[in-house]
Amino acid sequence: MQHRIIVLGAGYTGAIAAGRLAKRLHREDVAVTLVNAEPDFVERVRMHQLATGQDLKPRPFSEMFAGTGVELRLAKVTGVDVDRKTVAVVDANGAEELAYDTLVYALGSGWNAQDVPGAAEHAYEIASRPGALRLRERLARLDAGQTVVVVGGGLTGLEAATEIAEARPDLDVALAVGGGLGDWLSPKGREHLRKVFRTLGITVHEHAAVTGVEAGRVTTADGAAIPAAVTVWTTGFAVHPIAKATALEVTGTGQIVVDGTMRSVSHPDVYAIGDAAMAMGPGNKPLRMSCASGTPAAWQAAGAIAARLTGGKLPNVPIRYFNQCISLGRKEGLIQYVTADDRSVRAVLTGRLAAVYKELVCKGAAWGVANPTFGLPTRRRRVTRERAVAGSVVKEPA
Ligand SMILES: Cc1cc2nc3c(=O)[nH]c(=O)nc-3n(C[C@H](O)[C@H](O)[C@H](O)COP(=O)(O)OP(=O)(O)OC[C@H]3O[C@@H](n4cnc5c(N)ncnc54)[C@H](O)[C@@H]3O)c2cc1C
Repeated sequence: MQHRIIVLGAGYTGAIAAGRLAKRLHREDVAVTLVNAEPDFVERVRMHQLATGQDLKPRPFSEMFAGTGVELRLAKVTGVDVDRKTVAVVDANGAEELAYDTLVYALGSGWNAQDVPGAAEHAYEIASRPGALRLRERLARLDAGQTVVVVGGGLTGLEAATEIAEARPDLDVALAVGGGLGDWLSPKGREHLRKVFRTLGITVHEHAAVTGVEAGRVTTADGAAIPAAVTVWTTGFAVHPIAKATALEVTGTGQIVVDGTMRSVSHPDVYAIGDAAMAMGPGNKPLRMSCASGTPAAWQAAGAIAARLTGGKLPNVPIRYFNQCISLGRKEGLIQYVTADDRSVRAVLTGRLAAVYKELVCKGAAWGVANPTFGLPTRRRRVTRERAVAGSVVKEPA
């Protein structure tokens, strides 16, 4: 009997975990199935580029996983039953249930309209490919001088505003931020940000909490109205509701609570990684929704699953931050170096070199998905006749 590992979601973290598991475990002992709704890898970190008319390199999973032993199942996940250990999926042929012995939940996240009135109806998002394509189509129809307001001063908002302003200098681009522009960055980082925003002609509305979105404008908490032919909403990500509907222990926002090995604290045969998981990082702070922390979390989960199945030593992958890599259009960038727990230090890298650095990081992230065990010894270890039951490892009768 093969041990059935199902990985839900082939984004940055799920694809890495599936690839690692398939390389680490013996094919006769383990079946690794990767379930994803779409047939190709979506570089989410480039959605602002897609939205501004750039074409991204196609990355079909059929090529990425050819010969790896990972079985790809193209289907939409509609539910998980952690008591019966099944996943409900639907594809063109209808609905089906898949049974698992170990589940890796990596369904990522989407945009977060945060219940702001009008945002869901009128705003555009770039957290998903369909969202980015919708915005791309809308931006292409805008005439010179029309207004675009990006709401949200986090990394995604900064990248979106600068990318749009660079690609469409004829538009009137603004950024609305709840606090000050880049107020978590070092003084040098903030200064550089202001310089690039000035050069690109982006109007910055600081301390402008947007409380309403209408066709043609956004309104702020202090009663001001900012004209917006197009509103782009980037105020954070929200996880898909599937985990929350299960018996898994989740946070109020629906992230699965996991331990240091990325294993669910309530259901030991379930692991969660990436945006879908709530794991504590350095400084006892929850890991930020990012590839930066999601990638080592995926290594940790795959290593822990393999170790538990083969009787090996549990890995202890260091999960820490080194820098925040922010593209500011194609020609400018800002690399803000940070402490292990993600606080800005004085050092920054700016300018074209930073843009090149960020481009290499994006390329490297996609390459790492396609080459999940590069540089590491690849040993397909045999699964022992042990399996995890309710958190303890028991010997199965031979
Ligand atoms: C514009 C933008 C820029 C970003 N820039 C950076 C950056 O510079 N650095 C950084 O670290 N992070 C960045 N991020 C965040 C980063 O993209 C996410 O944190 C990361 O993608 C999370 O990885 P994941 O594997 O958890 O989820 P995802 O990469 O989102 O993958 C989830 C996968 O699950 C699939 N899926 C979802 N629901 C279902 C379903 N019901 N059925 C089947 N399949 C499903 C999706 O199709 C997808 O393939 C950026 C995000 C955006 C939107």
